[in-house]
Amino acid sequence: MSDKKKFYINGKWVSPKSSKSIKVINPATEEVCAEISLGSKEDVNDAVLSAKEAFKTWAFSSKKERLEPLEKLYELYKKRWSDIAETITTEMGAPKDFSTKLQAGTGAAHIKTFIRYLKEFDFEKPLGEHAKNQRLIYEPKGVCALITPWNWPMNQTCLKVMPALASGCTMILKPSEVAPLSAMILTELIDEAGFPPGVFNLVNGDGTTTGDALTSHPDINMISFTGSTRAGALISQNAAKDFKRVSLELGGKGANIIFKDADPEAIERGALRCFRNSGQSCNAPTRMLVEKSMYDEAVERVKKFANTMKVGDPKKEGEHIGPVVSEVQYKKIQSLIQKGIDEGAKLVAGGVGKPDGIDKGYFVKPTAFADVNNQMEIARTEIFGPVLSIIPFENEEEAISIANDTDYGLTNYIQTKDKEKANRVARRLRSGMVDVNGAGIAVDAPFGGFKHSGIGREAGKEGLLEFLEVKSVGGWAN
Ligand code: NAD
Repeated sequence: MSDKKKFYINGKWVSPKSSKSIKVINPATEEVCAEISLGSKEDVNDAVLSAKEAFKTWAFSSKKERLEPLEKLYELYKKRWSDIAETITTEMGAPKDFSTKLQAGTGAAHIKTFIRYLKEFDFEKPLGEHAKNQRLIYEPKGVCALITPWNWPMNQTCLKVMPALASGCTMILKPSEVAPLSAMILTELIDEAGFPPGVFNLVNGDGTTTGDALTSHPDINMISFTGSTRAGALISQNAAKDFKRVSLELGGKGANIIFKDADPEAIERGALRCFRNSGQSCNAPTRMLVEKSMYDEAVERVKKFANTMKVGDPKKEGEHIGPVVSEVQYKKIQSLIQKGIDEGAKLVAGGVGKPDGIDKGYFVKPTAFADVNNQMEIARTEIFGPVLSIIPFENEEEAISIANDTDYGLTNYIQTKDKEKANRVARRLRSGMVDVNGAGIAVDAPFGGFKHSGIGREAGKEGLLEFLEVKSVGGWAN
């Protein structure tokens, strides 16, 4: 499929009904790397109709009928791995090694784990030993609109498409118009894997026309969305009119609480987690909370780390970071860095403007502010760039209070050698995920947030359940 202007509807690559298109820009070069079509209401209608038709049979398909194409898809994905990684580098700027291991790697991991969860899942089971004639039946929610962003394009697409396929739902994927190309490779693989026509459909487009047409369509039963809190709120309003099921993965402003007894490496590890993917991760630990007795040392270490962090060509191998995704994001980040300076935070590394020696591409200097107050805008807004805010705290109680003083609640981080303290603090943090001492959150652990960070969970068994309705049948014949 070389024509990026086509959509995939009812098992075929088709020409769009509208002639509107948009250019995809390589953020490292600022050059056009592809042109995609913007789906109209008519295109969305065709895709929804095809998914609605396919649902009539796919909803009742057996495990075997779902597993066969999913297992084939996993094999096909592995063959195209380097192509997928390269495409992600081109469309959103993740450097080669990061793109290969993590961006493309998480996509493969989700396909593999959803195959496992599908094999293990009981779609029909008794309520319990006490009520054997009471049956629980887990059924697919229906026709789903899957809307994804540009920052982890394959990860987020697979987190939605794989459980939707495994649960028996049918779907229309609308990837981000900013980075739609890796999703088009996934579509080619889904086509080759042999899913029945109409089970999976792809329509490209923007949020205001294509996204809105999808989320307000009366035949969509469920919306799974990842992106900004702003769009999440608009989508929820559309969904409320006819009670569509909604799953939202939105922003974050994670706190990384570094106690004085933390492993010293925790500081560099925390800064790296904030800067990697050029800061464009919803779960990035962007507020580093440091216990006062080691605060000065931490600031010095972050300064050194940020100043030695390399920024450069994403096509090259290495541990450097690439550009941010677009001119819009670049400008937004620049204005927030300026805002931090104007608010009186102490700039200890980076700052406004491009890194030395770079004049093309949307590259941002790894930036760190010390003496940040949690009420400052840089501590409250999701910057989505490589910008770290360092905030001092006096004691455990104050650290928890600062960490929880945010509209968001996606991922928080704790660094301490005191195991009891780690568990105690983990229980009190108001977020969907807590990472202690860099252990990481497993690929199949529930991923999602409290508060403005969203509704619902993705990944693993919880991610599969998002796409299922449960039906209770009384009087089931055993
Ligand atoms: P966005 O929310 O505008 O776009 C994400 C996806 O939603 C895209 O596919 C887009 O076309 C679609 N969309 C946008 N408006 C829509 C609407 N009204 N109805 C239906 N679909 C709609 O995000 P963005 O503009 O790409 O980025 C803006 C900010 O969002 C970023 O600065 C960042 O803070 C945040 N963001 C968060 C995540 C995350 O994983 N939490 C991911 C991307 C962006």
